Amino acid sequence: MGETRFASLEEACIDKKVIEEAGRIIRNGGLVAFPTETVYGLGGDALQKESSRRIYAAKGRPSDNPLIVHICRWEDIKKIAGKIPPKAEILAKALWPGPLTMILEKTDAVPPETTGGLSTVAVRMPQNKIALALIEAAGGYVAAPSANISGKPSPTLAEHVQEDLGGRIDLILDGGAACIGLESTIVDLTGDKPVILRPGYITKEMLEEILGCPVDVDRMSPDGEKGKAPRAPGMKYRHYAPEGQLTIVSGNETDVTAMICRLVKEKMRAGERTGIICSEETRPLYQADHIEVMGPREDKEAAARHLYAALRRFDSRKIDYIYSEEFSGNGVGMAVMNRLLKAAGHRILQAK
Ligand code: AMP
Ligand code: MG
Repeated sequence: MGETRFASLEEACIDKKVIEEAGRIIRNGGLVAFPTETVYGLGGDALQKESSRRIYAAKGRPSDNPLIVHICRWEDIKKIAGKIPPKAEILAKALWPGPLTMILEKTDAVPPETTGGLSTVAVRMPQNKIALALIEAAGGYVAAPSANISGKPSPTLAEHVQEDLGGRIDLILDGGAACIGLESTIVDLTGDKPVILRPGYITKEMLEEILGCPVDVDRMSPDGEKGKAPRAPGMKYRHYAPEGQLTIVSGNETDVTAMICRLVKEKMRAGERTGIICSEETRPLYQADHIEVMGPREDKEAAARHLYAALRRFDSRKIDYIYSEEFSGNGVGMAVMNRLLKAAGHRILQAK
């Protein structure tokens, strides 16, 4: 493809002309990257199979990894979801627009290309006003995976999209930094008990409180159990990975910091470029070629916001080996650790 255009927008006063043009591109089968509160999305018309094919091609994404369909009005869900359980309505009332994706039975209006051949569809109503305006201008149904090359960290800035997809898509809408920084929570509502397929900013505790019933977390490993298809097909692929080798070091703080210092020293002696992911509290203990601070240890939201941009900076600084402290896994921390583990290909060392 040729040139990718770039347009900056303010959420507080959206330029209607730009949105109309972006909507027209999508309706005509083209691709537009746009900001959401989670990460940047790569949008195409969810109801045109050719658009979904183009999304997969632009990202280099395997075509059995389904796309999330983004809507801007609750009523619109009826066209794409066959059965809408009461729990879906309750969650939508409480959390939409927002960073929650629901898996529901699909209707024939959604082509199998969009759902990776599944009989279910993932639906979300994002909160970002630029995203909502674009979805409306595009006809109401925008399929949008994260706007990165498949396997790379998701983009939290328009510049990341440009880096990955410049020349492969029609337009990038720049709306500044994504405020959450991790992809939406995905909850499967097709069974009796809701199941979280991907943790995110909306936590298990929040869903249980709103629904008044227990919610499971799917513990499927990214590679899937032998002979069993993963429930969120995207989970079987390596994700969010920096080019250098990332290792997570787990254990109590004293042991972890000592082990990271030891490992970094060994690699530096061998002439490798080293990096560290740590908290504000432990930062003074380290020396390496590049250090990324995720924020105060207990601030999981800050870690979520910083993680992907940090992973990309290790690449631009050509770091060979990255060591990360472990983050505690409750609340939003569960989502941070889930992405970090995938980025590390589950390479985790116990500090002693
Ligand atoms: P991304 O758009 O890059 O955030 O990835 C979308 C994620 O949603 C992938 O991990 C998919 O596997 C998951 N997903 C999308 N549709 C479905 C579905 N119908 N059932 C289960 N998971 C889905
Ligand atoms: Mg993605």
